[in-house]
Amino acid sequence: MRVVSGIQPTGVAHLGNYFGAFANWIELQNAGHECFYFIANQHAITIPQNNEILKKNTLEITAIMLAVGLDPKKSTIFIQSDIPVHTQLSWILSCLSPIGEMERMVQFKEKSKIDPSATNLGLLSYPTLQAADILIYKADLVPVGIDQAQHLELTRLLARKFNNTYKSIFKEPKTLHTKTTKVVGLDGAAKMSKGLNNYIGLVEDEKTIWKKLSVAMTDPARKRKTDPGNPAICNIYILHKLFSSQKDLDWVVDGCTNAKIGCIECKKKLFENIIKLTNPIREKYLKLINNPNDLKDILSIGAKKATIIAQQTMDEVNALVGFKYF
Ligand code: SF4
Repeated sequence: MRVVSGIQPTGVAHLGNYFGAFANWIELQNAGHECFYFIANQHAITIPQNNEILKKNTLEITAIMLAVGLDPKKSTIFIQSDIPVHTQLSWILSCLSPIGEMERMVQFKEKSKIDPSATNLGLLSYPTLQAADILIYKADLVPVGIDQAQHLELTRLLARKFNNTYKSIFKEPKTLHTKTTKVVGLDGAAKMSKGLNNYIGLVEDEKTIWKKLSVAMTDPARKRKTDPGNPAICNIYILHKLFSSQKDLDWVVDGCTNAKIGCIECKKKLFENIIKLTNPIREKYLKLINNPNDLKDILSIGAKKATIIAQQTMDEVNALVGFKYF
């Protein structure tokens, strides 16, 4: 199966990104699928960006992708803007995109509400570029979070519209939702996100992780160690379920509900289990980010590999649309 997915260079990759995207990407890569994973820097500029910071974030997310286990020998890793035919196809698809449909996109409505004066055409047409990112590789499978379901539906609609208008060349890609649909933030109230500053970064050091974890929200009804708690409503326990063994989970449930352990003890156990994942990632990341030329080589090889497939599709599309004269 051909798999396509992307991630924006936001400057922060956190545990939510790991369980919501990377873990799934690695599994698909290691299952032998033909994977194309890209850094969606063109999607990133739908909100204002500083060019130097965008470049830095692009290299950093590349290093993180490699540090978590994506392997450029198995997966094609590249930057979206290095493959200009994504935007070329996007224009053709935008001429098939119903404006009413675009305006109904939940993400567009939410993002344009944050600052209506900053709403731009890119924010509205973002899902069409996303459709082009996928269709240009004729993907079979797109691993994304549940919040992208509506965009994937549009991708399938645009594939059908193109096929009906010109010729049937596009497959309708299937959505593969990640197993972990939502990683709760340290505030216990919302999904882990950079914007809400309720996250643990994938390459943060131990001191920073503990500082954040030690003040993270727990069961609000548990004021003292002698009060029995309810792990089912505690975000620390929800995080434990992602990181801890059954033995540790049983220890938390028994210790919390019978008031045998304090919240700090419980958080310390979670901390130990989190750093088992993040410390090796951080170590690899630091080596990679200190060798930017190696990262650039990997991205350049990825771009060459991606271009071969993407250009073939674009040539086919251009011929069908009537853009090829000779
Ligand atoms: S002991 Fe653990 S699960 Fe129970 S309330 Fe405290 S942090 Fe949450």
